[in-house]
Amino acid sequence: MKFNDIPGHKRAKTRIREMIDSNRIPHALLIEGSSGIGKFMLARAAAQYIHCENHRDGDSCGTCPSCVQHQTFNHIDTRFVFPIVKGKLKDPVSDDYIVEWREYLSKNPFMDFQEWLKALDSLNSQPCIYASESDKLTHDLNFTSHKARYKVVLIWLPERLQEAAGNKMLKLIEEPHDDTLFILVSNNSKEILPTIYSRTQRIELKRLSDEEVAVYLQNNYSLESTDALAVAHLAEGSIIEATNALSLSKERQRFLELFMSLMRLAYQRRVKELKDWASDVASLGREQELRFLNYCQRLIRENFIYNLNVQELNYMNRDELNFSKNFARFVNERNVVRIIDELDSASVDISGNGNGKIVLFDLAVQMIILLKS
Ligand SMILES: [Zn+2]
Repeated sequence: MKFNDIPGHKRAKTRIREMIDSNRIPHALLIEGSSGIGKFMLARAAAQYIHCENHRDGDSCGTCPSCVQHQTFNHIDTRFVFPIVKGKLKDPVSDDYIVEWREYLSKNPFMDFQEWLKALDSLNSQPCIYASESDKLTHDLNFTSHKARYKVVLIWLPERLQEAAGNKMLKLIEEPHDDTLFILVSNNSKEILPTIYSRTQRIELKRLSDEEVAVYLQNNYSLESTDALAVAHLAEGSIIEATNALSLSKERQRFLELFMSLMRLAYQRRVKELKDWASDVASLGREQELRFLNYCQRLIRENFIYNLNVQELNYMNRDELNFSKNFARFVNERNVVRIIDELDSASVDISGNGNGKIVLFDLAVQMIILLKS
């Protein structure tokens, strides 16, 4: 991770760079702020910059052996400490989850905590940092030799240190080895043990501006600038919020396409293609099939309302409205209730473990009849 890969935070980047360049790096640096703004990226960029053998223009080079190790989360003198679950382990430490962690980091640079829960396969538990972690760290820092001038320990979410772990960690931070740097990254620094908090030098990151979020979306998701700004505006400076909103709108787009092809094929009575359509939808998996059927019900209602010519009652986006201009006349008082009922019973069948392909093909055939009435 290079400083340049991180959106915004110009002042914080300069401050960290100056600390490193002048060799006045605090032994414990805390980066605090709300989630989804790139705090952990900044911590990673700092560690990479510290270890880079060839930095230039105020950033790490990205190509020296050290940088390559950093970019693959394999740097020999960099340690990650993060919240985990106990599972069947007796003395759990972060390293037990290093495979999941590397995959998570590569896909979630903005550190969506929900995604970490999924990676741990523990949506219903509260991960934390255990005392066994502090013990192992103490041992390793004492006995492991190293290559670089500094060993860097990156601690994600120190607010999740169990008390015993925190007290042991405090010792390490209070009486640091000359060659060890701690960088802590917190979403909620009020919850950090006060003894640890007071030992750190702190950098607070502000939320990203709407423009910074929008530029990030344009660069990474090839959005038009007005669309990117519209999404950014609702995300309140968080890239996590913005990308979540984006994947929801992507799903809605996909659902609209499936809805349109169902209606077109049913109208043209193309039974063979309707069979393929049913297989396509069935391949989404049950949860998404159910959301799709729900979406169809909503769109049928919207189209019925569209015929009443009361625009302020319509809640459709631009693409949905475009389709409805031609389609709405096929939804009328003779068939609307029956179409909704068919969609409803398809949902019930699929929730009850019915075979998606068969249920959806049945639905498609019913639609041929219903569109003609
Ligand atoms: Zn380098």
